[in-house]
Amino acid sequence: MSMNAPRTLISGGLVLVDNARFAPVSLLIQDGRITELVDGDDGPEGVQVIDATGRIIIPGLVNGHTHSHGALGRGGVPDDATLETFLAGSPALNGQRSADDLRLSAELSAAEMIRKGCTACFDLSVELPGPSVAGIHAVAEAYHAAGMRAVVAPMISDRTIYQALPGLLAAFPPDTRSALAAMTLPPWRETLAICKAAFDAWPVPMDRVRPGIGPAIPLHCSDDFLTACAQLAEASDLRLQTHLAETRMQQVAAMQRYGTTLTAHLDSLGVLSARFSGAHGVWLSADEAACLAGQGAGIVHNPLSNLRLGSGTAPLRALADAGVTLGVGTDASNTSDGQNMFEALRLACTLSRAKADDPGTWITALEAFRMATEGSARILGLTRVGRIAPGWAADLLFLDRDYCHYVPLRDVLTQVVFAENGAALREVMIAGRMVFSDNRVLTLDEAALASRARAAAAWLDAANTETRVMAEAAATIVRSFCHAACTSASRS
Ligand SMILES: [Zn+2]
Repeated sequence: MSMNAPRTLISGGLVLVDNARFAPVSLLIQDGRITELVDGDDGPEGVQVIDATGRIIIPGLVNGHTHSHGALGRGGVPDDATLETFLAGSPALNGQRSADDLRLSAELSAAEMIRKGCTACFDLSVELPGPSVAGIHAVAEAYHAAGMRAVVAPMISDRTIYQALPGLLAAFPPDTRSALAAMTLPPWRETLAICKAAFDAWPVPMDRVRPGIGPAIPLHCSDDFLTACAQLAEASDLRLQTHLAETRMQQVAAMQRYGTTLTAHLDSLGVLSARFSGAHGVWLSADEAACLAGQGAGIVHNPLSNLRLGSGTAPLRALADAGVTLGVGTDASNTSDGQNMFEALRLACTLSRAKADDPGTWITALEAFRMATEGSARILGLTRVGRIAPGWAADLLFLDRDYCHYVPLRDVLTQVVFAENGAALREVMIAGRMVFSDNRVLTLDEAALASRARAAAAWLDAANTETRVMAEAAATIVRSFCHAACTSASRS
């Protein structure tokens, strides 16, 4: 730390200290980190002061799993979509995008996250048919411009859904079957070489925006590909995230393809480690939870997307008890219709009570809050992020104490976790820099983003018309195939 870097004192707020208790302390900030907690309002002489009187100050929420490409796909997921029909429709929603479209989508995504109190995210960003250096760099540059922290992990696969799910192609009439069978993705060696080239020439400083690797779904990646992703992660010090047991269909297909669970299969390939996280984990068994915990791996809970796509509710208590590192995520603005970490945080608590189980098994407000801050930050590989304490990042949310959620104020954390939806959010600071205040994202031009987004969506929807017609026709067969496969697995 430079001795001469300017210092800022944030005084007058009610601060969540150590993710444990609220106290009326002032925060001294230097070089993007909290250097000291000062009792009361008095700080050292000659520092810049931010008056936070009337504010509740909590650490920024960390989104453990999202997809920046989802922002331009908003509204494009039918009411009755399941994960599998959504995946079958992905080329129609994500196809034909230029690097500028990927940048635009990431900027839209970042603006939404900042507006809703998220200061860091794990982004699995897709480019079809495969990633490009320009596309990966465009996403990294978007987060850099937004001033957010992010792990930018290209979401990659070498199998289409028709190659991933055993028996799916056979469910189609012969003429459609041959068209679907002809769809292929680039060979994985080519894909990984592009990722590596993009990482080696990383376009922005690594302190806030770093590369990661995102093999999309184990079934959608060949075993050699998964192993190579894990090796690249190890060699280049990257975080690796995949969608793990998001739907029952994935576990049913894993038994058919691998003869074991998804987690056991990944373990046998050597893919699990402390670098590894699985998004969703809805259909994980107790054995899988123990295996993940044993490897130091993490799971990111995405409750709203799981509800929207009818994937189920993740066994969060069992995962926590097993010792799995847990984070919370929103998933994308397409499948979750938005990226609101306050909403995800609240659902992490309330969904654990949906089955009227023993109250002793419920996820508490404090547990959920820690998952959505320091838990997700661990999964992103960030050190000293997600807590207000000396030495930790100055990633802070300022909530209005006079807003109805806090009037009257009795138990601040309970009121934040169960009542907040972002409506009381007034300022957002990331690494000591204000990125949101006066109802404006300060780092991005939101009006320009909106007009660019409308134009891009109109062009992309027209360009993808033919693919969309094909995807809509396929959706009915994909849905009935998956339903039948899961029903017959239940009977046997
Ligand atoms: Zn996802």
